[in-house]
Amino acid sequence: MLVSFVKRPPIGSRRLTQMRATRKMAVFVLDKQKRPLMPCTEKRARLLLERGRAVVVRPAPFTIRLKDRLGGAVQPLRLKLDPGSRVTGPALVRESETCDPDTGAVERLEHGLWFGELAHRGHQIRDALTLRRQYRRARRARKTRYRAPRFLNRTRREGRLPPSLQHRLDTTVNWVRRLCRIAPISALSQELVRFDTQAMQNPEIRGVEYQQGELAGYEVREYLLEKWNRTCAYCGATHVPLEIEHIIPKSRGGSDRISNLTLACRACNQRKGNRSIEDFLQRQPALLHRIRTQAKAPLRDAAAVNATRWALFAALKATGLAVETGSGGRTKFNRTRLDIPKTHALDAACVGAVDQLRDWNRPVLAIRATGRGAYSRTHTSGNGFPRGYLTREKRVHGFQTGDWVRAEVPKGKKAGVHVGRVAVRRTGSFNIQTQGGTVQGISYRHCRLLQRADGYGYSFQPKPQTEEARRAA
Ligand SMILES: [Zn+2]
Repeated sequence: MLVSFVKRPPIGSRRLTQMRATRKMAVFVLDKQKRPLMPCTEKRARLLLERGRAVVVRPAPFTIRLKDRLGGAVQPLRLKLDPGSRVTGPALVRESETCDPDTGAVERLEHGLWFGELAHRGHQIRDALTLRRQYRRARRARKTRYRAPRFLNRTRREGRLPPSLQHRLDTTVNWVRRLCRIAPISALSQELVRFDTQAMQNPEIRGVEYQQGELAGYEVREYLLEKWNRTCAYCGATHVPLEIEHIIPKSRGGSDRISNLTLACRACNQRKGNRSIEDFLQRQPALLHRIRTQAKAPLRDAAAVNATRWALFAALKATGLAVETGSGGRTKFNRTRLDIPKTHALDAACVGAVDQLRDWNRPVLAIRATGRGAYSRTHTSGNGFPRGYLTREKRVHGFQTGDWVRAEVPKGKKAGVHVGRVAVRRTGSFNIQTQGGTVQGISYRHCRLLQRADGYGYSFQPKPQTEEARRAA
């Protein structure tokens, strides 16, 4: 067999995955007593359902329960998280280890099973609170006599997070718990910090990648991006490729130390060339001064920058599962080495020590935190005047906003099948948010409940979607 001797390209190779058909999403399986079993394929789930051996527990994430099985062999699964400010990518992988018979080196192999992208609504929460504060302030100014402002009259609990950040933490932990209920998860991985300061300062501490400086380079880059706010230090350009720039050029004896590095766009980098910074910025003394001070100032403590990440780490440890942590630099290093596109879910899969990642080209479940409605029963106009009222009852004909429904409209302009998130109206004429857009004016009579509102909206991405692809679409 000659074929087996041919060295195959790494599995992550883009060429190979383009040829291979996209894999399907894994289906979660519970036993008779609702204990998690190994996730199965869509095909197998369909057969089990057709034969009446299983029932659907919930459509998102798709979970079935076997009616005749009690317990079963499970392999340990790992849930990996890449917490982001807007989107957190959970990825569920099965781990295995292969041992090279020649060298005896152990490789950590990961098989992607299920990918999700959890979109937070922290900014919505922040905006709503700001608006409420403004209304209240304006109202007090109108309705009460003058009182001197009081301030610093509250005590805050140690480790308190602002509501928008607390929400990020709560929703992430909530999804970890949910997934633990439907899959045999035995370990967690989390990207804890953006860059590993230890790795930059003591290059000899860990592993071969650090010694060769490859991974250390990634950490330095992430650190600089954070320190210089992802902008060109000289012209302030953002959203352009940035290059690492030596403030004192190497040809003039400048070092590779962090305090001598900054970021510059291509044009600025070339214009500066090997001139000294005093020469380059002789007409902009203010900018020269600012760059010099910023270069010397160490970045605020990484722990403070990443307060939410540390809070999440504490919450994950409280689950009792083993928690592995990684840095953002390592994630990027793994992703680049394995030639995997940048998405939130795939970033999560690349967190921590990964040698090989397989089956990553799968559909993604997009989960959007939507909240469960508002306490306020009054809609207000842009200026805070009342404009319409909501009902006291949340339910209309047994449905409530956020329920996932399937509507089969037999005839008329809206004839057809619409599946999606419903927004109820007291008249019984609902709006349905489908994958293709919003369909208005669907009678409750045509609707059938698929899943109760649980504070999240769901949609499916057939392929991992990168930021660029999303912007282009
Ligand atoms: Zn520039």
